[in-house]
Amino acid sequence: MVDIAAFLQRQQKDARLRRLPGLDHPDGGRVRLPEPDGDGPKAAGADQPEPAAVGHDLLDFSSNDYLGLTRHPMTLVAAVDALSRYGTGAGSARLMSGDFDLHRQLEQSLARLKDQEAALLFGSGYLANIGIIPALVGRHDVIFSDRLNHASILDGCRLSGAGLHRFAHNDTNHLEDLLKRRRGKKEALIVVESLYSMDGDICPLAEVVELKQRYGCRLLVDEAHATGLFGDKGAGLLEAQDLAGRVDLVMGTLGKALGSYGAYVAGDRQLISFILNRARSFIFSTALPPATTAAALAAVELLAEEPQLRQELWQRVEIFKSCLAQGGIEADLGPSQIVPLTVGSNQATLDAADRLRQRGIYAAAVRPPTVPAGQARLRFSVTNHLESDDLSAAAAIIATELKKSSPGG
Ligand SMILES: *Cc1c(COP(=O)(O)O)cnc(C)c1O
Repeated sequence: MVDIAAFLQRQQKDARLRRLPGLDHPDGGRVRLPEPDGDGPKAAGADQPEPAAVGHDLLDFSSNDYLGLTRHPMTLVAAVDALSRYGTGAGSARLMSGDFDLHRQLEQSLARLKDQEAALLFGSGYLANIGIIPALVGRHDVIFSDRLNHASILDGCRLSGAGLHRFAHNDTNHLEDLLKRRRGKKEALIVVESLYSMDGDICPLAEVVELKQRYGCRLLVDEAHATGLFGDKGAGLLEAQDLAGRVDLVMGTLGKALGSYGAYVAGDRQLISFILNRARSFIFSTALPPATTAAALAAVELLAEEPQLRQELWQRVEIFKSCLAQGGIEADLGPSQIVPLTVGSNQATLDAADRLRQRGIYAAAVRPPTVPAGQARLRFSVTNHLESDDLSAAAAIIATELKKSSPGG
């Protein structure tokens, strides 16, 4: 039996105890803390510009609502309309009576976006990955998975019972070495993310595609953080690198840049039908609510109708990164809207997050097991909710506060 009290004490001692932050949301770009911190007035440097945070409203650098679509007039109208027409829930699983025209429309529109024949919705990205992977491979098969893949991918791999070989992050030499030694004659699946959620870096997709062809494997690409942002259509990094036709399956979520909730997998018609028949997290779970589905459908349409939303985001990312660099941050700030700044120990990272909170900035402290031990970090994601002035002021503060954290301390 687990000693529950001892577990909680140990988590607390290692600065690993998870707690709900207790936030409210005054608007898209800000979070509100429930009550004053109690340890005096906020430490405001006299000559530092403060972001436009009022009272305990902090700039939200933790949201994945990159394009601001959770509050876009078109997604709101679509959701309200579906809500009044169909009610608050789908009532049952898709294979029972929970199948709606809206679901099929969204699947078609996602398949088109991703340049695939068909798509299938899931209740969430977590449910998608723990359903898709065990549908494709089993006890006698093997999986090759990037070491930094999301927890839902790892859980899907474990649930499948397949032999699991994890390759060093973005290291295609290591992947090939494992393929040579471990591929065998079984079904083999390679799983990568196109944009990694904690490091904000990009997978060498073209090389992975080469390897999957050379070694006769299926390839599943998780585009959770890239969908909506990269490529001419905003489909993701596979589109941007002209590789959409060379992967077997691509999955992504509706809860990040698309501003809704849920997830999808896209691929050829036969494979999607196979997954519909095999993925237990699809079969045995209630369908997405109509309003959520309608909001996601409107969001996919907005990717085509308002490409400036992506341009605005990349302009904001540029402002944030150049101001961090001006503030003396020398680390590589990466190629994406996700900017991780490694601090080191758990406690130092929590302290840095705390100092930033005191100064009106809300960023996630990402700690093991989400990232490797000793590499705890602050993770900043840029969204269209944050204005240029807020971003430049915040970057100056972040640079100042992070210099106070001794690296590795
Ligand atoms: C967020 C995320 C998921 C899970 O998606 P949810 O819809 O939040 O459950 C899966 N994979 C990756 C890479 C993610 O970042």
